[in-house]
Amino acid sequence: MYPFTYQRPAALSDALAALAADPEARPLSGGMTLLPSMKMRLAAPSQLIDLARLPELRGVEVEGGALVVGAAMRHVEVADSAVVRAALPALAALAGGIGDPQVRARGTLGGSVANNDPAADYPAGVLACRAEVVTDRRTIEADAFFQGMFTTALGADELITAIRFAIPKQAAYEKFAQAASGYAMTGVFVARYDDGVRVAVTGAAPCVFRWTEAEAALSRRFAPEAVAQIRLPADGLNADQHAPAAYRAHLAHVMLTRALERLCV
Ligand SMILES: Cc1cc2nc3c(=O)[nH]c(=O)nc-3n(C[C@H](O)[C@H](O)[C@H](O)COP(=O)(O)OP(=O)(O)OC[C@H]3O[C@@H](n4cnc5c(N)ncnc54)[C@H](O)[C@@H]3O)c2cc1C
Repeated sequence: MYPFTYQRPAALSDALAALAADPEARPLSGGMTLLPSMKMRLAAPSQLIDLARLPELRGVEVEGGALVVGAAMRHVEVADSAVVRAALPALAALAGGIGDPQVRARGTLGGSVANNDPAADYPAGVLACRAEVVTDRRTIEADAFFQGMFTTALGADELITAIRFAIPKQAAYEKFAQAASGYAMTGVFVARYDDGVRVAVTGAAPCVFRWTEAEAALSRRFAPEAVAQIRLPADGLNADQHAPAAYRAHLAHVMLTRALERLCV
């Protein structure tokens, strides 16, 4: 790890000023990804600006049909929140299935979404639930936010402050977890709205994506049978030591079916 300095500002404005003043400074939330990257010398920030306790990035509320979750909310807090469990129980379950207790005690919603790991769970919930990513300067639709492997629409010193999830009528998330880390080998989030169904797939490809063929079929008829013949093409999917592309394609259909079987009882 290269030397760096650490700051814990008391207000969002102070954090933004610190980031604007030093292009080599990086925001720190749970540190579950950034600190290992620094230890492996894959990242070498001059300063870490700790966001974890900023009051502007904390809290959970329901506001006009949306569930708004602060970026600094840790996975365990989202999993245990009575507000999240009532408004969007699938999101609470997703958060409760991330990694292990240590990771859930430190990792945050904002850190996970900003990082956009191809196998992370939250991006599937954000994309399926028509979420808006709220930053210190604008609001970005989920469809425009996730742009590629570890790549998002965020500017260099732009901070996520909250995520605004459109509350669906029904939702479920199913993942086939990588046994050691808990990351999604493939995970599928299904969200049903009055005007259609959204299906987001994580872990299978370099970036989370919407499975539009499944969405169209489920928007016509919301039942496992509606997608019985639909398969995800393996072309372009991830292939590594954990699973070949064809296996991930198969898992996507299995996870989709499991989610639907839970929702269509
Ligand atoms: C052993 C292990 C197992 C894991 N298993 C899973 C799993 O099963 N599923 C899963 O989804 N994830 C998993 N994770 C990832 C983890 O859950 C965290 O979500 C992830 O590491 C990022 O969140 P963080 O708060 O730790 O962010 P950090 O590591 O603090 O930051 C990550 C990146 O985001 C930037 N950043 C942080 N906060 C903001 C913000 N508010 N605005 C803009 N940029 C920001 C940082 O500068 C950095 O570039 C695992 C991690 C570990 C170490």
